[in-house]
Amino acid sequence: MERSLREKLPGGKFLNVSAVRSKTMASIKGKHGKSTERKLRMALMRAGIRGWKLHPQGIQGNPDVHFPKTKVVVFVDGCFWHGCPRCGHVPHTNSTFWHAKFSRNHERDLMNTRALKKLGMKVIRIWEHSLKNHSSTAAAIDRIRLALEANRRIDQKKKGFPLSPGSGSRVQIDSRR
Ligand SMILES: [Zn+2]
Repeated sequence: MERSLREKLPGGKFLNVSAVRSKTMASIKGKHGKSTERKLRMALMRAGIRGWKLHPQGIQGNPDVHFPKTKVVVFVDGCFWHGCPRCGHVPHTNSTFWHAKFSRNHERDLMNTRALKKLGMKVIRIWEHSLKNHSSTAAAIDRIRLALEANRRIDQKKKGFPLSPGSGSRVQIDSRR
């Protein structure tokens, strides 16, 4: 653990961690569980979306999915670690530490998003909880599809391909969560 974060803990240690919390912390090793990853993969396949790579190497922030041709990346943000306002609550014990940890994760997310945008990438961030039911999964897939279409269009413009009628730049992409 980094020093700046350890300083937020009394005596530099986790104290009074409940059995439940301890279990939660141990079970959330990575960004999110295998089931979340599987849900996204299945949803993409069901939607007939192709051209993606899972866990691409060498892209800042380690996105979950990358569409190399259209330069779209997708991150699934774990509700606990990324401090989701809807479901990620801050644990009562060692709360100073957790506040610091979550806000730092959030800053890092913003920084990565900005850096990737500068490289001409379209960044989609999806909350882990959105993949837990059909309608919000469908909404997430729609956002991905729109981003893919928009970037494909930009790419065609660059190459000088004629655009089909009515495919102007009216489509607005909302990259917020
Ligand atoms: Zn959430």
